[in-house]
Amino acid sequence: MHLTMLCPSNTNTLTHSSMSQFHKLNPFKSHIPSIITKPSTSNPVHSSIINKPGSVNPPTNFTNLLSFSAKTKNLCLGQTIHASILINGSFNNTPSILNSLINMYSKCSQIQTARFLFDNSFTKDDISYNSIISAYAKLATKNSYKQVFNLLINMHRFGFSFSDYTLSTVLNVCSSCGYVDDYNNHFCFGKMIHGIGIKFGLDFNVVVGTALLDMYAKNDCLRDAIRVFEGFDLKNKNDFMYNAMIAGFLRGGLCCENAQEAIRVFNEMRRMGVKCSKFTFSSIVKACIGVGDFEVGRQIHGQILRNGLQDDEFVGSSLVEMYSFFGDVDDGLRCFELTPKLDVVSWTSMISGCVRNGKFENALSLFYRFLVDGRKVDEFIVSSVMGACADMAAARTGEQIQGYALKFGVADFTIVKNTQICMYAKSGDIDSARITFEEAENPDVVSWSVMICSYAQHGFAKEALRLFELMTVSGIEPNHITLLGVLTACSHGGLVDEGFRYYEIMKKDFGIAANVKHSACMVDLLGRAGKLEEAQRLIYDSGFEDDPVLWRALLGACKVRKDTEMGKCIADKVIELEPHDAASYVLLYNLYNDVGKKKHALEVRKLMQDRGVKKEPGISWIEVGNTVHTFLVDDCSHPISELIYSRLGELLAKIKEISFDNEKLPLGIAETECSGTVRMSHHSEKLAVTFGIISLPKSAPVRVMKNLRVCSDCHTTMKLISVVEKREIILRDTIRFHHFKDGLCSCKDYW
Ligand SMILES: [Zn+2]
Ligand SMILES: [Zn+2]
Repeated sequence: MHLTMLCPSNTNTLTHSSMSQFHKLNPFKSHIPSIITKPSTSNPVHSSIINKPGSVNPPTNFTNLLSFSAKTKNLCLGQTIHASILINGSFNNTPSILNSLINMYSKCSQIQTARFLFDNSFTKDDISYNSIISAYAKLATKNSYKQVFNLLINMHRFGFSFSDYTLSTVLNVCSSCGYVDDYNNHFCFGKMIHGIGIKFGLDFNVVVGTALLDMYAKNDCLRDAIRVFEGFDLKNKNDFMYNAMIAGFLRGGLCCENAQEAIRVFNEMRRMGVKCSKFTFSSIVKACIGVGDFEVGRQIHGQILRNGLQDDEFVGSSLVEMYSFFGDVDDGLRCFELTPKLDVVSWTSMISGCVRNGKFENALSLFYRFLVDGRKVDEFIVSSVMGACADMAAARTGEQIQGYALKFGVADFTIVKNTQICMYAKSGDIDSARITFEEAENPDVVSWSVMICSYAQHGFAKEALRLFELMTVSGIEPNHITLLGVLTACSHGGLVDEGFRYYEIMKKDFGIAANVKHSACMVDLLGRAGKLEEAQRLIYDSGFEDDPVLWRALLGACKVRKDTEMGKCIADKVIELEPHDAASYVLLYNLYNDVGKKKHALEVRKLMQDRGVKKEPGISWIEVGNTVHTFLVDDCSHPISELIYSRLGELLAKIKEISFDNEKLPLGIAETECSGTVRMSHHSEKLAVTFGIISLPKSAPVRVMKNLRVCSDCHTTMKLISVVEKREIILRDTIRFHHFKDGLCSCKDYW
């Protein structure tokens, strides 16, 4: 096998300069003889070099081989071919070979060599310029971008003409705003290129147009982007242009109006029969989130299935995001399982979707799977999972997550600290919440607000207000959530005067207008003070008189004040506003029951049945060890159920002994009454508390969570259990935390 086999017929003698150039460039020169002299029959490339001595047009072969080396990023092969070219001496005469070499070296990450060849060649043409410009553009560094602009200027100076490829490459560089200091320069350059495009008649070229559109969109000039897009005839727009326009509309946060426009462009694209790619679908699924239209989202999913793109990672992660957003966790999980190679964003959106929709266990098990996959945990995923622990009130599990946060070095992120405060507070452990808050290095408005709201929920009004004063002194601007915390603290703590003072100054001092939740706090506060008429007036003055939240707060106050007459009126009002919400019926029912008007109570129940209003079943849960135990009313499914019932029987007997007021003895009825027949029953919180008493160490407080408002019967029972068992019981219901201790509750019997 001889070298001549590789040589073209018009062999020039190997010049000294080209050989030395080759030696300079090729550190692998020692490989050449062995590759050439020992052909490997298994390697198709080598055999093509060697076994076709009679190739008609060797230079074309060289370019093909170089492009193969570039494609496979095989530098060694590329250099071998380069050597053959030099030996051949055909290098200097053919720009196509120069261009292929530049392409090969830049693809093999040898930009310096590519540049050396470019600078030292006399045969360069416009394609050589395009090749080297594109090589620098792909490097995407600050310096390489500078080279792109310089090369473009040189190209013009030496009289080479720009093609659509040149302009689109440079425009893509102008779209990359990665370097803030050059941002304006890049954008100005981009606009200049637009001018050049017009001058050379390339502005209506679809490649240049797409790059222009993209450049404007990425530089926040959506209007200019649209102008470029609209300037093209319908029949000239291709899929790239449509995709760029759709992506342009969805840049920088989802806004409903732009998302709608994106969908309009998508429809135009379909109408014109332009093929949709995975990029189109993944964008348009996000647009459905933007417009809040789940139905359209599902239709798009159908189209994705028809196009066989379901298992694409981009499309899959958008679908996961969409289903999570619209609360369809089951379908979200299905897409999640079908999509290979999901990124951390998809995992986070699936987990937070589960949390948002109350599927906390799914969220946790996904997180453990994420860890098993050997992935790196970030602050967002930790904060989502900790949010699940907060909602499950699973502090022990939350602590484990905190351990992972420490391990991955994200524990000190403020977003993580904030969910941790929330997690402890919602689990009933206000002390640990406070310690976490004090540990936070950079508490932001969210940290302060979460802590203030937590104190308020636990009925520690003084602490909440003290913290609020501290916050304003620290110079952190409160927001409407902070103020909600403050007003809730006043209402839960019965601080009527303070409540009014803050309600009055919130607009004046902090520029925060009272929303419906703030007003509900005030209604609650007035109700607590027994000023029911005033509360009613406040509702009419608040401007939210059509909002059932306020009327329900007043109905709650009527119940506590046992004002049946007003209660009936208010209940009628709330039921009129929200005929299918069970909470108002139950409140009125309990109000009648509390004052002994059984007949009226039964009428309310009948009304509920007639209207088909279903009450959510009461569920209580408690974390013992690392497990969350849940209980329903009269639940017998727990493994130690028998023990729980016998212990509860003992407790109730003991309570009877110490209860002075026989009238107020817990009766153990209420919850099932609204949905079925009146009978003795054990509410879920009683079972959960008894289980806690059995399972937890004597000194530990029993923390139980409930999904409904606690009834008066259970409330009294808890107070008495705290006496007979001499231990603290903390019960969270939908309204607040009740800390039962020594026969008293932190809510002072108002909830
Ligand atoms: Zn109860
Ligand atoms: Zn209470």
